[in-house]
Amino acid sequence: MTAISKRALLGTGLAALATPALAQSNYPSRPITMVVPFAAGGPTDTVARLVAEAMGRELGQSVVVENVGGAGGTLGAARVAQARPDGYTLLLHHIGMATIPTLYRRLPYDAVNGFETIGLITAVPMTLVAKKNFPANTLQEAIALIRRERENLNYANAGIGAASHLCGLLLMSQVDAAMTTVPFRGTGPAMQELLAGRVDLMCDQTTNTTEQIRAGEIKVFAVTTPERVPALPNVPTAAEAGLPGLEVTIWHGLYAPKGTPRPVIDRVGQALRAALKDPKVVQRFADLGTTPVPEAQATPEFHRQFWQAEIARWRPLIQAAGQYAD
Ligand code: ASP
Repeated sequence: MTAISKRALLGTGLAALATPALAQSNYPSRPITMVVPFAAGGPTDTVARLVAEAMGRELGQSVVVENVGGAGGTLGAARVAQARPDGYTLLLHHIGMATIPTLYRRLPYDAVNGFETIGLITAVPMTLVAKKNFPANTLQEAIALIRRERENLNYANAGIGAASHLCGLLLMSQVDAAMTTVPFRGTGPAMQELLAGRVDLMCDQTTNTTEQIRAGEIKVFAVTTPERVPALPNVPTAAEAGLPGLEVTIWHGLYAPKGTPRPVIDRVGQALRAALKDPKVVQRFADLGTTPVPEAQATPEFHRQFWQAEIARWRPLIQAAGQYAD
């Protein structure tokens, strides 16, 4: 194809019909959609919006976040798995990518092989939080109340496979008492219900709870990491508060549909790594108790290996619990 005809083709907006090589060298020539498989206002959404804005600056094209919530993050993941593998549709998802392949036995997409990995993004603690007037002030008091009240208490989550679901499973199995589970399309809307006092408890990423905890709008009983979180120095770890089994760290990663050309993956990955070093992103993440991964982990190879290891780690735990979504 001559330079003139290439230009003519691009000029008519028919770039999508160009040869793959041309489309790649020109990438990105239009806005990119970053699908978040949970509702707006939640922690995955917050991470995505921060990273998308910085990536857009780096790529010279806007990266537009689209929330496709529901079914524990599987609706949004399906949307990306089924999209054209051209780099214009990406997925920002969390640890659910490692539990969904086991939790869901019937999915309209390949949850293990349907994606290219681009890079890990963050490591995030969870916090066990409650509505402001919840009648317990420590983790031990909360455990006693959960054991006494059981189904009379409402536990909010973002559907089966969500981080809030996993944390709730761990909590309920550790204290050996089941609460009534109330699923939302994301923990953004769930937080609104917690703030309004219409649900009792939730376990959610610090990205979504730090500011409400600091403002005294909700109660917090523990963080789920082995170490305390610098953004919440007075909050004990679950182990310190007497429940060592409540340990889970959430991670986020960026994906593209299977078959997305490697040069495109590399361009997006480069922008991701730059975004994770952007001072504005770094500062905001720190304020929200959210840690960007080291640069070497924001790569396709590390991400794929880590993700597959996480699938293998969660599979026997989920199978032993015998709890499936379908
Ligand atoms: N934090 C939520 C969860 O996985 C999802 C969300 O970001 O809304 O429970």
